[in-house]
Amino acid sequence: MNSLQLRPDFTNSLPGESETDNYPRQVYKSVWSKTEPTPASTPTMVVHNESLMQALGIDAQDPKTAEIFTGSTLLENCLPYSMRYGGHQFGNWAGQLGDGRAISLGETIDTSGAHWTLQLKGAGPTPFSRQGDGYAVMRSSVREYMCAEAMHHLGIATTRSLTLCTTGENIARDIFYDGTVTMEQGAIVCRAAQSFVRFGNFEIHAASQEHELIKILADYVITRDFPHLGAPCADVYQQWFREVMQATATTVAHWQRVGFVHAVMNTDNMSILGHTIDYGPYGWLEEYDPRWTPNYVDNTMRRYSYGNQPEIARWNMYKLANALVPLFESTEPLEEVLAEYHDTFDSTWHQMLANKLGLANLQTTDKKLFENLWSTLSLTDTDFTIFFRQLSKIQPNTDQASVRTTLLPGFYKPDEYTNNIENGFIEWVTQWQQRIQNEDPDARIEKMHAANPKYVLRNYLALNAIEAAEGGDFDVMENIMQVLRNPYDDQPNAESYAARRPAWATSKPGCTMLTCSS
Ligand code: AMP
Ligand code: MG
Repeated sequence: MNSLQLRPDFTNSLPGESETDNYPRQVYKSVWSKTEPTPASTPTMVVHNESLMQALGIDAQDPKTAEIFTGSTLLENCLPYSMRYGGHQFGNWAGQLGDGRAISLGETIDTSGAHWTLQLKGAGPTPFSRQGDGYAVMRSSVREYMCAEAMHHLGIATTRSLTLCTTGENIARDIFYDGTVTMEQGAIVCRAAQSFVRFGNFEIHAASQEHELIKILADYVITRDFPHLGAPCADVYQQWFREVMQATATTVAHWQRVGFVHAVMNTDNMSILGHTIDYGPYGWLEEYDPRWTPNYVDNTMRRYSYGNQPEIARWNMYKLANALVPLFESTEPLEEVLAEYHDTFDSTWHQMLANKLGLANLQTTDKKLFENLWSTLSLTDTDFTIFFRQLSKIQPNTDQASVRTTLLPGFYKPDEYTNNIENGFIEWVTQWQQRIQNEDPDARIEKMHAANPKYVLRNYLALNAIEAAEGGDFDVMENIMQVLRNPYDDQPNAESYAARRPAWATSKPGCTMLTCSS
């Protein structure tokens, strides 16, 4: 039996729309719109998150569970809603976007007292669906489910995945926007987060001159999610903005640490809590390349490439600041915080890099070591994840031949590791060996293992999981997720999950090239 209790906290606390019919429209003077999910023809739960379910009082065996998490049956006290937000997409104001294929069921508190909102992704159209159908397919749902959990187990703030259900519907998708339409299986992820409020929730009210709503929403977010700040007032608004900036910088620094490329850092995909949200055409760095993005539509500009993420986060903070101006008498408090972004990001990132390299402390001269590291990794196609993990096996006195055997598994073109390229690596490794000479080896290795995951959701692993899931086999997905629950541990039976991208995946769509089509 499910003991999950939903409380309509968001809808009770914030102004919603009086219109309750479900058709696409521009919405005004409202934070949310009442939105009934479209019942699924054959709701079937295919994957679930047992520990999170237990914490929330959900019984996976209860036959009603699949109906609840496809939106086919509504729990008592459930007032389903979609959220109104706007956003800057690829640098341009895009106007009203909103939850076009997401419907929140309500809020709840788990056994530890933590707040959650439960949200269905793909349960049918909403007032914000525009030309979209409001549905999601297996491919994108498996990607979202797996990556959010992988991120959580890496220790990075993120939305969580609760259930993956199939609906029994077939959905038409044009994956590469070239007119080739395929029918794909409908699927719904129920995701859970402390909050789904985005930068874009504030931006839409600013763009619509709804200044009162900016304050109402800010006060709600502060009271619910930043209670330690106390009652909202001018100083509290500034400190809140600072904490949003710090959380955002920290999360992006973690993305850089593990080689995660979000790929659609539009302001509507930026969580006000700094959590990773909206897993679309994301990818994980294979060969280190700061210009890499898996997002096919961003191929030319590469706005959301790996190396740009920290600056894009800052740009997005500017857009949020613009939206928050009505909370302040002058723009000074916002500008003051924005000016702190670089120092905040750099100090967090440099500390993470020190950890990645196993340095007991951070010294000013280490900046040079970091800079040289990036140019060294660029000498040949070097797997970002494998390189750092292998580096932890090198000691201050390891000789050149052993450095070579240790690093070789991380190179996509091992034949290139000769002459100048080998010399370049040896030069950097020697600098690093000198730097770690006096450090306790056990402590260093432990530090390096804790900062450098051995297992990440490699793009081809996600594709393997999708292809099996589309054939009705969820074991591949479950097996990968089992490994990704302990990403920093050596798992002797899971070596293959830590290996370089196989040759077949090098240019396969869905591995190296993705779109937002979901
Ligand atoms: P995203 O690329 O996930 O950040 O989505 C951008 C906007 O498009 C959001 O407002 C989504 O809700 C909306 N959207 C994306 N896919 C669909 C869909 N299949 N149906 C309706 N709206 C969608
Ligand atoms: Mg989105």
